[in-house]
Amino acid sequence: IMTAQTFEFQVEASRLLQMMVHSIYSNKDVFLRELVSNASDALDKLRIEALRDDSLGADVSDLHIAIETDKDARTLTVRDNGIGMSRDEVVGLIGTIAKSGTAEFLQKLEEARKAGNAADAEGLIGQFGVGFYSAFMVADEVTLLTRRAGEATGTRWTSTGEGTYTIEEVGDAPQGTAVVLRLKPADTDDQLFDYTEPWKIKEIIKRYSDFITWPIRLVTPAEAGKDGEEKAEDGDSEKPEPETLNSRKALWARPKSEVSDEEYHELYRHISHDWTDPLETIRINAEGTFEYQALLFLPARPPHGVFSHDKRGVQLYVKRVLIMEECEELVPPYLRFVKGVVDAQDLSLNISREILQQDRHIQLMRRRLAKKVLSTLKEMRAQRPEKYADFWREFGPVVKEGLVNDPDSKDAILAACSFATTHDAEKTATLQEYVERMREGQEHIYYLTGSSRSAVEDSPHMEAFRDKGLEVLILTDAVDEVWVDAVPEFEGKKLLSIAKGEAELGTEEEKEAAKAEREQQREEYAGLLEWLSERLGDEVKEVRLSSRLTVSPACVVSDTDDVTPGLRNMMRAMGQ
Ligand code: ADP
Ligand code: MG
Repeated sequence: IMTAQTFEFQVEASRLLQMMVHSIYSNKDVFLRELVSNASDALDKLRIEALRDDSLGADVSDLHIAIETDKDARTLTVRDNGIGMSRDEVVGLIGTIAKSGTAEFLQKLEEARKAGNAADAEGLIGQFGVGFYSAFMVADEVTLLTRRAGEATGTRWTSTGEGTYTIEEVGDAPQGTAVVLRLKPADTDDQLFDYTEPWKIKEIIKRYSDFITWPIRLVTPAEAGKDGEEKAEDGDSEKPEPETLNSRKALWARPKSEVSDEEYHELYRHISHDWTDPLETIRINAEGTFEYQALLFLPARPPHGVFSHDKRGVQLYVKRVLIMEECEELVPPYLRFVKGVVDAQDLSLNISREILQQDRHIQLMRRRLAKKVLSTLKEMRAQRPEKYADFWREFGPVVKEGLVNDPDSKDAILAACSFATTHDAEKTATLQEYVERMREGQEHIYYLTGSSRSAVEDSPHMEAFRDKGLEVLILTDAVDEVWVDAVPEFEGKKLLSIAKGEAELGTEEEKEAAKAEREQQREEYAGLLEWLSERLGDEVKEVRLSSRLTVSPACVVSDTDDVTPGLRNMMRAMGQ
């Protein structure tokens, strides 16, 4: 016997729901975008699973999304015949919020609300991506009926969004998912439209979901005519063909000039689940023996966990059909933040990961995509410096990993890189710019690593360089400790840490004079040096005079090939 069980929402889920129920978000239309996006994901998943698993037994002949409106019942249903969810998945995915950063998001949101800052709160919700729960902005009850492909029984989930939900087993649910919204009365909120109106549904789908590759059909019950009796006699008359609302044109296959930024951004949202507009949109159209189109996005901010290697956002399509959601073979690890779509003409639909890794065309494609992303960064720096600066702050440390991991692309990566420098506190510099500014007689590119700009600037190593007006790169990312060794020189100039060995400064003449002076000093101070050496014993290798300090009396340096303190810390953190 199947009885409904009542559960409580996880605390965070419950708080988020409360905000949706008493919504402060004025753009309520987005709930439909969210439900359609989920339905589209579910169809993609079924399609991919069916390709891999012959025994799934799911009908994939007419995959689509249906939106059904019922004016009399005041319900709106979004139905898909996609992958569906098992009972456990419903509990896990709908009853809790797995998204990391939710707690932080909720806290910020509450702060903004307490401060009476509605605009900030809206911005936050928009950024977070409201997801399934956004249904509660327009509905006072939501029912989800679902059956997972390959499973016999289905699940019904119902909630009014007030702390609890019920779950019930259903014997005869169709495969896929139907989300039924019981719409709030329109007069409860002056920003609430009548979402049973076909024109409103059409408008929202056109605006937010036009690019969805699955057909989105509008199903309205045959209009109940004014004369009810006449209608009843006519009961068996044919139903009109449902109307497909979206054009389903792949953006990457349409001419560049015909696609608006708005459309690109919607696609980006859909594939990245990031609600901030991307910084840059990149298109590649490769013709020839191996044809493909790529549409790539540079995000404005890192998703959670960009420094972990588990997720990469480029989807692989073959002739408009999504075959892999996170195809990491398409972008090198140091560009793992890139999101987008690659659509290839001549790949097998059920290509395996193993084959992808070895496929020569895929490797060429990956190189080309990486090159294009790097050249776009270079161009951004020249043409749109503010955007580049925003990007570089967030993703620079990731890109620089490539200097270590992808030596073949070193030049292209360096051309996209920029570094903080003593030359200008506000502006970063490329190595090219550094070299162009080098003083006469300067042979090396000087840098100093450290935990922060101020730590580096206050370092005693810096004193002589500051006095002589020599530019020093200020490297403060953990990865900086590593790549400087992988890039021994740039345009014939060696990269040299000013914390290592004896940094030789000045022109030949100055060096000669300094040498003579040092000889003399060495004699004068021999006694002191000897005494210091004895006192410090095994703590140091050597005590010597230095020409590098102008204010500080002494500093500790490492040998040229010793690890720097920063690197030692990083290696320790990595467990080495
Ligand atoms: P997101 O889509 O960002 O993961 P949502 O709140 O929109 O967040 O959805 C939560 C999860 O619920 C989805 O990741 C998906 O696993 C599941 N889900 C939602 N709608 C459907 C659906 N129509 N079919 C199958 N699974 C769904
Ligand atoms: Mg979603």
